[in-house]
This record gives sequence, structure tokens and C-alpha cells, in this order.
Amino acid sequence: MSQVSDILKFNEKFVENKEYEAYLTSRFPNKKLLIITCMDTRLVELLPKAMNFKNGDVKIIKNAGAVISQPFGSVMRSVMVALYELSAEEVIVVGHYGCGMASLNADHMIQSIKERGISDEVLSTLENSGIKLTKWLRGFDSIQEGVIQTVELIKRHPLLPPGVPVHGMIMDPATGALELVSDGYTSI
Ligand SMILES: [Zn+2]
Repeated sequence: MSQVSDILKFNEKFVENKEYEAYLTSRFPNKKLLIITCMDTRLVELLPKAMNFKNGDVKIIKNAGAVISQPFGSVMRSVMVALYELSAEEVIVVGHYGCGMASLNADHMIQSIKERGISDEVLSTLENSGIKLTKWLRGFDSIQEGVIQTVELIKRHPLLPPGVPVHGMIMDPATGALELVSDGYTSI
């Protein structure tokens, strides 16, 4: 059976048995927090459990590496929507040890792109139109550096509402243990 039909079959029972009732909440975060974290599979359930978040408590934005690289890209737009429209009042960037983005090798990924059948012509068209793939596919050297760079990018953003604390933390993806690497309360 395909993944999709498995999901749909499960979903039908889920709704039928009213299992959703345990999760009913509003779109506004009870804890007034916005979390930016990594899409790593180990954090899917671990992160909310280890930080004591239940459905409805927080807004969570996920991507590879918990990285924001564009001050006016879609991730930062989500940050602003959470702060201005959805009553989030604090931001926590949560990276984790063993993050794939720390070891991301742009050359290796470009090689994989070619092996999967994307032609050199497509790649050179992109390069010629200003898309620098090696830059776009670059990770960070260490998770500390990645988290702090993202924290700083948010803090420096001209549209960040004054007085919003932006913190940085690193999680152990096995135990859920957190380390505070940037305390947002000290700089507001
Ligand atoms: Zn990661």
C-alpha cells in the first residue's frame, strides 16, 4: 500500500474516533512563543516534549538547520506574521548537535543533483541568471555559529518589534538536553 493510502486510511479512523478532540486549540500560541528549529526527524516529537510544549502552546517554523539566511525571505516573513498577527512575543532559535546543515557540502550536493539527471545546461543557466548554487547550498561551520547568526539576523531586522527577546539554544537530539547559547533578555 502506498504511503498516501496508508495515511488516508489512518486519517479516516482518526477523525471517526474523534481523536482530534485532545488537540483542539486556537491559532494563537498560549505561551506567546515562536520557535525556529530544524526539520531533523529526531526532533519531531522530542523537541515539544523536552520543552514542555503542547498543541496550541507555540508557533513552530522548521527548515534545514533552523537557518534564516534572507532578511526578506519567506521564513522571516513567517517570523513577522507570528509577532505582529499571531501574538507571539518571544523568539527562540533551537539548533541541535549533529545537524546535517553543519556538514552540508555544496559540491557534493551539486554532484548529486547531476547524478539525478539535472543537466549541466540547467545548472549553467541558473548560474548565469545570478543563482550561485555553491552559496545557496552552503551550511554552517558549527551549530553554535549557525544559531547565533540566525539570532543576530532576527535581532537586526528593521521590522522586529522593539522589546522582543530573541534567544538561541542548542538541543542534544538524543536526550533533548538544552543549552542556552544566546540569552535574548540581556539585549533588550
Ligand atoms: Zn538539523
